[in-house]
Amino acid sequence: MRIETLAVHAAYSVDPATGAVAPPIHLSTTFGRDEAGVPLAGHTYIRESSPTQDLLEEALARLEGGEAALVFGSGMAAGLAVVQALPPGSHVVLPDDAYYGYRVAARDFFPKWGLEATFAPLDRPGALEAALRAETRLVWLESPSNPLLKVTDLARAASVARAAGALVLVDGTFATPILQRPIELGADVVLHATTKGMGGHSDVAGGALVFAARGELLEKVRHVRTVLGAVASPFNSWLVLRGLRTLAVRARVQSETALTVAKALEAHPGVSKVNYPGLGSHPGYDVARRQMSAFGSMISFHVAAGREAAIAAVGRARLFTRATSLGGVESLIEHRATSEGEASTAPPDLVRLSIGLEHPDDLVADLDAALRT
Ligand SMILES: *Cc1c(COP(=O)(O)O)cnc(C)c1O
Repeated sequence: MRIETLAVHAAYSVDPATGAVAPPIHLSTTFGRDEAGVPLAGHTYIRESSPTQDLLEEALARLEGGEAALVFGSGMAAGLAVVQALPPGSHVVLPDDAYYGYRVAARDFFPKWGLEATFAPLDRPGALEAALRAETRLVWLESPSNPLLKVTDLARAASVARAAGALVLVDGTFATPILQRPIELGADVVLHATTKGMGGHSDVAGGALVFAARGELLEKVRHVRTVLGAVASPFNSWLVLRGLRTLAVRARVQSETALTVAKALEAHPGVSKVNYPGLGSHPGYDVARRQMSAFGSMISFHVAAGREAAIAAVGRARLFTRATSLGGVESLIEHRATSEGEASTAPPDLVRLSIGLEHPDDLVADLDAALRT
């Protein structure tokens, strides 16, 4: 079955008990047992598993081409559950442009967990090889990355990591499984902040891990989730499942619009550089064309006149909403260094855009007016 069809149908059709075409939300925190003490439907307590969360996990596993999925209360909780499943003494390699929350986690929590981290420009050939150590247990990849839209050759990086005996995690939040399929490229686990494109409407927080195979890693991470408690609520699971149903059309239209906006920005005299993997000028263009079916809804660009001009341009936007986050139906604009705060490595002249479902002409006109001084 093709991914558009899976997005609509995976994990649920009609409820045999009621005939309901839309899936139910089961809010129950506890689940009954028979006379012998056996759980009636496999569930016991909400922190272990619940029916609506199960539906979302099954749908995600099918969409991403994995054997199993686990969902969490946030993208941070999902990613860090993999890290927390590593033995103390492990070394983790991450991209220098990893989502800033994970950089903060590596700085403030990895040492307490007995872990070491190396950040390297993993979009460049040879950088991963140089960062690996005998104790490297996990190679963390993110492509396209946040906020510089760097593109890493996932198949190549995965085979280097695998040869070194390390697990491969790909943060696929920017691409979604509609545009890029990391498990087919060699990833052991794919991470999504479902808060973003999967939820798709800026109204739900969540995270997900999809595992290429059932096995030890899945069970260790499940243990972290159950004991440390970072489960997704039934309502949030339901909202993400609802978002998945329209993900394929949203991802395609947002990618087309983003390419139009990126080209307009590249031609704009007020802009010194545009980071979008769908532009021929992007250093990762060829790799992106190979491993993505379209280039996604995220763009960042550098304002020629520098930091103050970038902040002023963001302030003049009328149609773009000034806010962080991404993947919703409304287009967002932010001065990225301001949003990230003290841990930011974002260039001071960088503006980040999340492209929504508005008409591209209106978005280009808004940016043109905002960049005019
Ligand atoms: C937002 C985001 C996360 C973290 O997700 P939360 O739901 O905010 O915890 C992780 N990775 C990427 C690429 C993100 O954009």
